[in-house]
Amino acid sequence: MKPQDKPCFCSSGNPYKVCCFPFHRGAAYPKTALQLMRSRFSAYALNIPDYIIQTTHPASPDYKEDISSWKKGIAAFARDTVFQKLEILEFSEHGTVAIVSFIAHLSQKKEDVTFTEKSFFENFKGKWYYRVGHLVEGKAPTIVTGKQLKLLPLAYYGDPILRKVGAPVKEISEDLCRLISDMIETMDACDGLGLAAPQVHHSIQLFVIRDPIEDEKGKVELGEARVFINPKILKKSEETWKMGEGCLSIPTIHADVDRPKKITVEYTDLDGKRVVEECSGWKAKVILHENDHLQGVLFIDHLTEKEKEQIEPFLKRLHKRIHDGTEM
Ligand SMILES: [Zn+2]
Ligand SMILES: [Zn+2]
Repeated sequence: MKPQDKPCFCSSGNPYKVCCFPFHRGAAYPKTALQLMRSRFSAYALNIPDYIIQTTHPASPDYKEDISSWKKGIAAFARDTVFQKLEILEFSEHGTVAIVSFIAHLSQKKEDVTFTEKSFFENFKGKWYYRVGHLVEGKAPTIVTGKQLKLLPLAYYGDPILRKVGAPVKEISEDLCRLISDMIETMDACDGLGLAAPQVHHSIQLFVIRDPIEDEKGKVELGEARVFINPKILKKSEETWKMGEGCLSIPTIHADVDRPKKITVEYTDLDGKRVVEECSGWKAKVILHENDHLQGVLFIDHLTEKEKEQIEPFLKRLHKRIHDGTEM
């Protein structure tokens, strides 16, 4: 049997030549995120790194500027792995975002391994792209939430909304509550510590965070989701600390940012009450970062001239691949 007549590696049951082959050779592009997911799986199985790279969203945290080492990494994984079966658990598409949960049955070094992954896809300029995935070892259907998918499209570096001052929130309406729960889901899906409304195209004074819990060694874990409406930073300590920051709107770029160690923040909570809270360390940092978004300020604005110069070429390339689509 010719390889093209064999059943496709994506477990569709169809011969490869009428399944993922047209996608891999560029004769067609997957019409749904599910098709894209399947064709990426079979591209891994057949060791076609170019296809994986071409179908990765330019704002994906997995995007690598060094294409040749990226290719080598994919090829090495494909070489060391036998792809046995793909089991789709859940697929939902919602506007420009989609989610596919699946179980991948593989074998590595002659040992069977199973992974459950929840992958997020984003439609970008009319085509679906892989954006981010959450992987757990073993069969873990529990990572499928069963919830209606409410992943919101993000505004990326260069989008004018990120430079606007958000309008004050006038009332805690049903629509606002829905936006807040969608923002929390989006933040979690993207592994963010926080997310501000302008980052999801709403120019208002609102952000959400996952309360960062620091252990003695300074390791940070994500705690409960918190909501800040119409926040005001009342006090900032003179003492500062410098620590790495990233931003869901400026993917793949990180830099150390100097921030006040302690702050006092006043905000409206979900019950409409004005609350004053003192916080320090990571929590203060996350609140300051998100609060900046409401003022049209980004973390890169806090860098020194020299640091800005160093980061500039990366920002230019990010801007180019997101807004011009000329990265390939
Ligand atoms: Zn296929
Ligand atoms: Zn940010």
